[in-house]
Amino acid sequence: MNVKQAVDMLELKASLLVEGVSASEEALTGVGTDYKEQNHGLFGWDMEDHVGSELPDDFLLPDGTVVQFRMNSSSPFCIRADDGGLKLLHRDRDIAGVQWIKRPDFYKTRVSQNGKKMVQIGQIGGEDCLFFCYQNYCSHFVRGKQCLFCNLASTSKTYNSVLKKKDAELIGEVAGAAWAEGAVKHVLMTGGCFSHEKEIHVVKDIFAAICKHRGVDRIPGTILPSPAKGDDIKRYYDTGIKAIGYSMEIWDEALYRAICPGKSESTSHGEFLRSIESAVGVFGEGNVYGVLVMGLEPRDTFLEGVKTLTEMGANVVPFVWSPNPGSRLAGHRAPTGQWFAEVVREAADIVTAGGVPPGTENHCYRCDGNNLLHDALREKGIS
Ligand code: SF4
Repeated sequence: MNVKQAVDMLELKASLLVEGVSASEEALTGVGTDYKEQNHGLFGWDMEDHVGSELPDDFLLPDGTVVQFRMNSSSPFCIRADDGGLKLLHRDRDIAGVQWIKRPDFYKTRVSQNGKKMVQIGQIGGEDCLFFCYQNYCSHFVRGKQCLFCNLASTSKTYNSVLKKKDAELIGEVAGAAWAEGAVKHVLMTGGCFSHEKEIHVVKDIFAAICKHRGVDRIPGTILPSPAKGDDIKRYYDTGIKAIGYSMEIWDEALYRAICPGKSESTSHGEFLRSIESAVGVFGEGNVYGVLVMGLEPRDTFLEGVKTLTEMGANVVPFVWSPNPGSRLAGHRAPTGQWFAEVVREAADIVTAGGVPPGTENHCYRCDGNNLLHDALREKGIS
């Protein structure tokens, strides 16, 4: 990391995501009781597994930037306790004061139906996004055709911390509790790859349960199902969720086929584009997201993707890639934090010029700590 006099928060966040961070034992006091801990609801983002030790899910930089905590005991970054607070160091040099994020009360509560802990069903991403994975399963692993960066199967096996399958009523009850305590503003929901017909029914029942527990007709947030195509798009809209996402992963077509061998067999790059175009027509401009993994393809193709999606009226969520254990790319290296910061600022220029509504009702900079674009947009006054 290029440590400057005045800290560049965007580059700092990028560097923390690609180099990881460690924390002293004293700094970790209260994680899992007062502060929100990791629960491995879907993927594992740390650079090393940490079974049996409670780690924070994410933390805040002084300007409110949310950073995902990616454990790396060899990282030059370390968080230490400091005079009743926390400070971030880079090779023993003070960088900034940081804060863990408060643990929501519903994490302590159990659902009425089967006594399971609510946190085994839904978890908060960042400060205000309620995350549900309705089924922790992906068929591409069975055929050895999983995306090269993905560690879903090994995370589930290593931690075994959440219910693999969650039924609609349980999810509804958790959402009701999370909203009642004022802990969340949006939902993000995804599930495994299974038959489209079955998935729509599952999602429909879940949103009916959430609407019932909240007493509303529509839910702010995003559904990220197996790629929704044709008439299914309207059926997802009718479930009551306000936005839909498409996990395209990689923009460059040839790289997409190489990095996502299973997914690219079931949904081509062209099908993604046709579906996103239709979805913008149904959900409205700004309420459709193209989700990309940033750091595995060249700057120019990534930015071409941002430009095309923006011209279509979609927003972009680019997750910052760093290699995690259990994925086929474990042990590789991500680009530098400086590269991520420069490229994402260019992406923010493209998005701003495109004028797509920012869709912050459904997804905001407080929702997740593993994406830089919403921070780069916030630098431009869009949040
Ligand atoms: S589609 Fe790819 S990224 Fe998604 S769960 Fe399956 S292997 Fe992982």
